[in-house]
Amino acid sequence: MTALLGCIADDFTGGTDLAGMLVKAGMRTVQLIGVPDGPPPDDVDAVVIALKSRTNPVKDAVAESLAALHWLREAGCRQFYFKYCSTFDSTPHGNIGPVTEALMKALEIDFTIACPAFPANGRTLYKGHLFVGDLLLSESSMRNHPLTAMTDANLVRVLQQQVRSKVGLVDYETVSKGDAAIRERFDALHQQGYGLAIVDALSNANLDAIGSACADLPLVTGGSGVALGLPQNFRRSGLLADNAVADALPKTGGLRAVISGSCSVATQKQVEVMSASFSSFSIDPMRLARGEDLVAAALDWASERIAQEPVLIYATATPDTVKQVQADLGVAQAGSLVENALAEIARGLVRLGVGQMLVAGGETSGAVVKRLGVKGLRIGPEIDPGVPWTSTLHKDDTQPLALALKSGNFGSEDFFLKAWEKLQ
Ligand code: ADP
Repeated sequence: MTALLGCIADDFTGGTDLAGMLVKAGMRTVQLIGVPDGPPPDDVDAVVIALKSRTNPVKDAVAESLAALHWLREAGCRQFYFKYCSTFDSTPHGNIGPVTEALMKALEIDFTIACPAFPANGRTLYKGHLFVGDLLLSESSMRNHPLTAMTDANLVRVLQQQVRSKVGLVDYETVSKGDAAIRERFDALHQQGYGLAIVDALSNANLDAIGSACADLPLVTGGSGVALGLPQNFRRSGLLADNAVADALPKTGGLRAVISGSCSVATQKQVEVMSASFSSFSIDPMRLARGEDLVAAALDWASERIAQEPVLIYATATPDTVKQVQADLGVAQAGSLVENALAEIARGLVRLGVGQMLVAGGETSGAVVKRLGVKGLRIGPEIDPGVPWTSTLHKDDTQPLALALKSGNFGSEDFFLKAWEKLQ
């Protein structure tokens, strides 16, 4: 059995978002961190290769994306998906347009679509204009983004500036008529010499119709929303089972730990709730900066109690405390001191026998995954929206580790307490 859908995501959390979506739509999915050297894992329907190419120089983003495409083709995938942010995050030079055109050239095709719409998260597209909630993209906070400022909401215009092909529009009037009308419009645009089409969408029903109309496109590009409609195509053609369980994970035993490097509001509450009933150990960046070995101290502390109960090790602090630390140490220095310590603690905890770990914080998760040498994750059941349990992929027989990587503001107050129940 080979994978059906091969996806290339331009950043890690975007990849997780897409992978979670595909699992919910019934495809067994793994997320790989960068382009792997080995062959693909067995028994998967979709593979997401997560790159870190969103703000790279165009040349690098194109080269990495082509390497990912090559690997996915070798893995037998029959349709490809380029995933970018639902706010179409790109620099003035790209990378969405140039990467899309490079993938099209490699696949020897001359038409595809671009649809970042994700109505469930307030990203809608009307007459080619992208809205973030009630605001045009160019009036949303994205206009001030430090790396990918979006100052024009007209995506036909934005994409046209990044590509050589002509960019057209499949507008809402057509989309609302359903998949046959959308497909007709694709054909008409293609015949008129358009290479790319922005596609309007205001609802999940629109995304389903667009997904269905994309059944025969070798390459689809968009946010994670449009991917929702693709699994049904494979099902219709008998390639994907109707009622298959897509979120099963291998059993992972072992001890339990929570590592938190996020200072977001939601995480602060989650740390408070867990600390009320479980032992916790706080990492103070000022003590790290003074050279104290808090990694060894935390691991000694954990080794005495972890056999009895889950432990929580956190750097999470209030905005005032964080500001003070950043003023004293510098933002980047404070961040990397804490990330390094938490990543090293994660490695120590695995050596102590931890088999199930929650990590809070996007950057923190990146540091932990890197330190643990994780190359890929199989996506399992969702704990809260946007946060699935995953299990690490291993080439050899070592026991996989169950990992849940939580972005700062995700998850309910009792997230650190209830997450374990989903692992049975
Ligand atoms: P989030 O997903 O909430 O943004 P991240 O892990 O991405 O969380 O980012 C939080 C950053 O703050 C990390 O670089 C982390 O090392 C740093 N950090 C965590 N605790 C503290 C602290 N007490 N003081 C200063 N920086 C901290």
